[in-house]
Amino acid sequence: MALTPMMQQYLEIKEKYKDCILFFRLGDFYEMFFEDAEIASKELEIALTGRDCGLNKRAPMCGVPYHSAESYIARLIEKGYKVAICEQVEDPRQAKGLVKREITRIITPGTVIESSMLNEKVNNYIVCVFNNHDTISISICDVSTGDFFVTSFKNEKNKLLDELSKYVPSELLLINYQVTNELQEQIDVIKNRFNCLINLVDFSTDYDILEKYKYDCLTDNEKISAARLLDYLTETQKSSLGHIAFIKRYNVSDYMILDSFTRKNLELTETIRTRSKKGTLIDVLDKTLTAMGGRLLRKWVEEPLMSIEEINKRLDVVEEFIDNIYVSSDLREFLKNIYDIERILGKISCENANARDLNALKQSIAMLPSIKVAISNCKSQLLKDIYSDFDTLEDIYKLIDSAIDENPPTTLKEGGIIKKGYNAEVDKLRDAMLNGKKWILELEQKEREITGIKSLKIGYNKVFGYYIEVTKANLNLVPKDRYIRKQTLANTERFITPELKEIEETILGAEAKIVEIEYDLFVEIRNKIYSQVSRIKKVAQYLAIIDVLLSFAKVSFENNYVKPQITNDGAIEIKDGRHPVVEKMISGVFVPNDTLLDLKDNMIIIITGPNMAGKSTYLRQVALITLLAQVGCFVPAKSARISIVDRIFTRIGASDDLSLGQSTFMVEMTEVSNILKNATKNSLIILDEVGRGTSTYDGLSIAWSVIEYINNRIGAKTLFATHYHELTELEGKIRGVKNYCISVKEHGEDIIFLRKIVRGGADQSYGIQVAKLAGLPEEVIKKAKEILAKLEENDINKSKNNTVVKEIASTSVEINLFNYKENEIIEELKNVDVLNITPLEAMNILYNLVNKAKKLG
Ligand code: ADP
Ligand code: MG
Repeated sequence: MALTPMMQQYLEIKEKYKDCILFFRLGDFYEMFFEDAEIASKELEIALTGRDCGLNKRAPMCGVPYHSAESYIARLIEKGYKVAICEQVEDPRQAKGLVKREITRIITPGTVIESSMLNEKVNNYIVCVFNNHDTISISICDVSTGDFFVTSFKNEKNKLLDELSKYVPSELLLINYQVTNELQEQIDVIKNRFNCLINLVDFSTDYDILEKYKYDCLTDNEKISAARLLDYLTETQKSSLGHIAFIKRYNVSDYMILDSFTRKNLELTETIRTRSKKGTLIDVLDKTLTAMGGRLLRKWVEEPLMSIEEINKRLDVVEEFIDNIYVSSDLREFLKNIYDIERILGKISCENANARDLNALKQSIAMLPSIKVAISNCKSQLLKDIYSDFDTLEDIYKLIDSAIDENPPTTLKEGGIIKKGYNAEVDKLRDAMLNGKKWILELEQKEREITGIKSLKIGYNKVFGYYIEVTKANLNLVPKDRYIRKQTLANTERFITPELKEIEETILGAEAKIVEIEYDLFVEIRNKIYSQVSRIKKVAQYLAIIDVLLSFAKVSFENNYVKPQITNDGAIEIKDGRHPVVEKMISGVFVPNDTLLDLKDNMIIIITGPNMAGKSTYLRQVALITLLAQVGCFVPAKSARISIVDRIFTRIGASDDLSLGQSTFMVEMTEVSNILKNATKNSLIILDEVGRGTSTYDGLSIAWSVIEYINNRIGAKTLFATHYHELTELEGKIRGVKNYCISVKEHGEDIIFLRKIVRGGADQSYGIQVAKLAGLPEEVIKKAKEILAKLEENDINKSKNNTVVKEIASTSVEINLFNYKENEIIEELKNVDVLNITPLEAMNILYNLVNKAKKLG
């Protein structure tokens, strides 16, 4: 037995694409075979059938119709598979023997360009990681938009994870070279945290492919990484990727550095608990009107700037937009009509755009002149720069407008794409088709008259083409000399005549021809636009910038934000600052608070106060205001002077860390150690209840020495929230330490949270009052107060305390414990069904009970 030729062809192709699910085009279906079929039928919940493959047993098979394949592919991609599309690359009717088939594209999570598989306001990144000794070089690309970045950094603990946290890649290529255990560990975290597909690619120093692209000066390592990524992209897209207009190199230190913990803790783009957008900073900030603006906003939030000049450029535009309400509301109206130009360019460049995409591009371009006029009188530098370089792309508008029909179909092989008047031949053929249809009607009328058969009809089907249909009752009237019988049905007979066939030829010939010509014309137009990709892309980026800054202006205006003053004197001074997210989420009024941090007497702020007082909120508020200022947005405060910060570190004490599986003291300490190693005097350090993950005295001692270390060795601005009010002792002992607390008011036995930060330390922690507020039973609260009173009678002296604890315990706690266990034994005894157990079972029960009783002592 031998494989059928088609199966042989299948296996040959599959051999080269082992890691993909192969979609093998057979007529109107994509079929999958063997193991692919088994996987796909399960994942897609479609029927698994079989096909004779020439061998004894049938090949498992399943399939999806080609016109609805996209949704099936999307589901496989979502689940982390790669899909290889194998098409028939010659017309089956003209093929001699087996139809030729080729892989036309490989779709993977990081190379998707279909809008239906992408989130419009989120970039979809693929990265390539190359480690060479102590340097990691990475290349990052969003194929759907053509953005491409390259950078390098020292191979230090978690650096890769930190950098990639701002991209959240969906796919990663790891160059198989010096993959250390530590690197592999990070890759594993990236894989799980971002649901990222990992591919191992071979190491090679060949970077010729780069010559096709424009790029910044890159190191050899970076070239290797970029080249492997481009190789992979060309291999999967099977196209030239001209929309990757520029490969941009950046330094990690061009932007504020935020490690992955800090990004997570500050809830910039997703919340810790639900990982959703709602309740994040970006959710508050995002009033963008275009997909491009939405993506850029996210990028800016992930990459706060370090240059005062660059920041002020953005802030000035925000100010101008707020002051100039007519301009900004006009611009907002115009932007509403702008489609996702970047992703349309992506499709054009991957030869995937259809006529509707071109029309969307045209409609977007139609807005450009108005936008240009709207910004023509703007004073801020950034807008002036954009204005002077703003290309309104009239030629491209004209091209599309003259050529593409207003209402084209989504497919390219059905005609109906090209506008009347664009191409003489198309017009002529369309006339022929139209006339042909008229001739058919005329012929029908004529034949009815000649034959006298009133019910005579001319019909059409795919197999016979046009035919004359006569009912059986009228067959005697058919002119036998002219009519040629073609088909007999139950009640009718179908005939053709030479005249009918002649008309048919004109019609069908024209139709086939027209489809072909229209397709060719379309490709020609698409290529013309493709040759202008970099011009269009530049405008798209300007639109995105305008959109984001308009969004900042709107949010700042509506929420009463203020323009921060950006400095580099090391001080952060905020009057009436608020938390941008919490202020929107709470039902009551948000209480604003001041902040003063500098490099001298106000370097380390220790904040005490009971649980729920608002410590964590305050800490994050200071971090977010600083970050917002460096992003170039106004900030929620009455006034703010912000000195540029090179990094923000946050560490939240272990028991406050809600993320799964990481709430161990060890992780907490690793992070603190990372901070102490990497912070500079320009960093902002946020420590929230650090040391809480261990015993009181351990925790207290660690917190104490950490503060001392920051003060003596680093000199970084630090906010330290703690419930250890013992730490307030540090003020006066260490210069630069200042105590603050969040005030509460005692009201009889209860407390009221005032949320106001004031100078001084909290003298007690009000834990029991908070517990009461939380609704613990009265009995528990009463008992807790008794215990507290006993403890407080003694000094804060460890050994004495322990005796007190033992005393308290010996009187109450253990007795309760004993009672509880005793009851358990009695319960068990009651449940023994003496008449229905075997002697052996009885022995076992007795044995267990005796053991329990012994344990009670
Ligand atoms: P802590 O860290 O001291 O335990 P949180 O910062 O978690 O307290 O704050 C507890 C709650 O108090 C927050 O969820 C918020 O609803 C509220 N809150 C905090 N700060 C303020 C404020 N300045 N104004 C109004 N409500 C606040
Ligand atoms: Mg807290």
